[in-house]
Amino acid sequence: MTEQQAKARIEELQRVLTQYGHEYYDLDMPTVPDGVYDQLMQELIQLEEQYPSYRQPDSPTQRVGGAIISAFEKVAHDHPMLSLGDTFSQEDLRAFDERVRQGIGENFRYVCELKIDGLAISLKYENGVFVQGATRGNGTIGENITENLKTVRSVPLRLTKPLTLEARGECYMPKRSFNKLNKERAEREENLFANPRNAAAGSLRQLDPKIAASRNLSTFMYALGTNGEEFGLERHSEALDFLQELGFRSNDERRICHNLDEVFAYIDEWTEKRPTLPYEIDGIVIKVDDYHQQQELGNTVKVPRWSIAYKFPAEEVVTTVLDIDLTVGRTGVVTPTAVLEPVLVAGTTVQRASLHNEDIIREKDIRIGDKVIIRKAGDIIPEVKQVLFDQRSEESVAYEMPTHCPACDSELVRLEEEVALRCVNPQCFAQIAEGLAHFVSRNAMNIEGCGEKVVAQLLREGLVKDVSGLYDLNMEELIQLERMGEKSATKLLQAIEASKENSLERLLFGLGIRHVGSKAGKILAEHFETMDALMAATEEELTRIFEIGEKMADSVVTYFANEDVQLLLGRLREAGVNMTYTGKKIDRTDIDSNFNGKTIVLTGKLERLTRQDAKAKIEALGGNVTGSVSKKTDLVIAGAEAGSKLSKAEQLGIEVWDETRLIEELSE
Ligand code: NAD
Repeated sequence: MTEQQAKARIEELQRVLTQYGHEYYDLDMPTVPDGVYDQLMQELIQLEEQYPSYRQPDSPTQRVGGAIISAFEKVAHDHPMLSLGDTFSQEDLRAFDERVRQGIGENFRYVCELKIDGLAISLKYENGVFVQGATRGNGTIGENITENLKTVRSVPLRLTKPLTLEARGECYMPKRSFNKLNKERAEREENLFANPRNAAAGSLRQLDPKIAASRNLSTFMYALGTNGEEFGLERHSEALDFLQELGFRSNDERRICHNLDEVFAYIDEWTEKRPTLPYEIDGIVIKVDDYHQQQELGNTVKVPRWSIAYKFPAEEVVTTVLDIDLTVGRTGVVTPTAVLEPVLVAGTTVQRASLHNEDIIREKDIRIGDKVIIRKAGDIIPEVKQVLFDQRSEESVAYEMPTHCPACDSELVRLEEEVALRCVNPQCFAQIAEGLAHFVSRNAMNIEGCGEKVVAQLLREGLVKDVSGLYDLNMEELIQLERMGEKSATKLLQAIEASKENSLERLLFGLGIRHVGSKAGKILAEHFETMDALMAATEEELTRIFEIGEKMADSVVTYFANEDVQLLLGRLREAGVNMTYTGKKIDRTDIDSNFNGKTIVLTGKLERLTRQDAKAKIEALGGNVTGSVSKKTDLVIAGAEAGSKLSKAEQLGIEVWDETRLIEELSE
């Protein structure tokens, strides 16, 4: 990045972060997720560190909170209400720990607390009576929201001792109240709150206290306004106990940690337990316990040096679309994929995200060069959630899908009722390559040593024109290929030879008949036993099989009616490829087991069985293992760390077993 580019990016980030801050702090209506804000803030902090002359005094890196524009009376805080420094990794925490050690030596301890995702409040008491409640505002000046805070039940109106003091903490909305509130708002067709934090802030910043009263807000207080020495306290942890004695609510999940390993253990524990809490947390706060040591370390203008927040990994992050790549699948469908600047999303690096089809690109208006928010759908598959239009360059142009196949250049078509663009040229190199790669794959003919590069070369050199060509290959031809020695060629020829003995279901799956996956291949093979019998089957005969629907039956009949297919099968047969079912036949009607005829879903980590083993055993006992939980599911086997499938099963009232129960039942 040149200095000029850095300057432009700094200005852009200052502008967008100021805008996001305004939407979040002042309007309580953020337009981007917090993780995205944090990520852009980190980028700005780093750029401003590199080029300090472009750091403006009013840069979002230098300010706490938003502007004070509301109709509430303004109140000056006796001591600034600071924000917290952020860390996102163990490495950052080690650096923080190092800075602490340099400041106060080795003899200290931390207190770890949950970072409640609400808004900071200050509560003032005179002689034990609540007199003023305020928001953090810009850290120096906040809004007087006393009347609203009086309606929050956990805010004591009178303390257990007649003391004059300020308490600070977080006001939040429990998850249940948040869900209820948004449901009611949806029914009234009102705007929904983005998250409980904004709902809490929005509720407290209403002029009519009845609204706050109706929102079921709560508080966790985590500090005294002063450092507590006037009450004879020496440590932050003592202050937390003291607050509870006075009648405040403090969070009980705090823990003293003597070293970083204990801090990491606390973080790990709460990363896992976070979803079980009735309120949102967005991280862990780590504080040096001793007040004297806190003073020694001091504060910056924005954050204390004796405390830091560890933020949980973001599930939604920003990155740039570098390109849009087009791939032609085995059935000719052209799929656009966003090539992304690599970015860490919830623990793994993401470089590509499928854009599925032209309609999605248009709907979301995704363009090359755009800054986009990426998230993992269903926690696994990366997807482009939204474009950050306010960071789009003026030169950007809308993305147009090609009119011709990127592999063979023939014209693309859009079949009726399909959103996908298709290449319908049967000679298309990319389609044949994909088909061949599928044929040799593990669950199909399982021909090892025939990876993507070998397949591409075989086709390019004209050694193979379709899958039957594999069975005519010889040593001489193979060793001409790049990086193919005699040894690998021998192995490949052996694997090809061995594949001739495969049972019929592998061949059926490998042929790539539309809608026939490996499971359907097995069902068809088991039922008809020979290729000839299957080829002669009518649609009616096929649909009579329990698991075969009309769509699949139609596809099977159409496939075998095709002359080219018949010629291909003739060539395979001539090459000696087995066309009969040699697997064990299961009589499904005759099994006496708890699994017979049941639709079963496996989820989470199994510890004693592998997934494949469990599936095979269940299927052998007549069970039907499927991938997703629905009303049709009879039973869910939940291993460790089971997530959304388990919750769905619970919602639907489906029977759930753990692994031990599964093993017991299997061995009966
Ligand atoms: P912060 O919320 O990240 O951290 C500081 C705050 O943590 C404190 O002021 C306090 O209120 C709170 N806190 C909760 N539990 C605590 C505990 N146990 N001990 C001490 N403090 C505790 O910082 P911030 O300056 O308030 O806000 C910045 C954050 O707000 C960003 O990190 C971002 O996630 C979010 N934000 C989002 C947008 C958006 O557009 N989505 C815009 C602006 C800010």
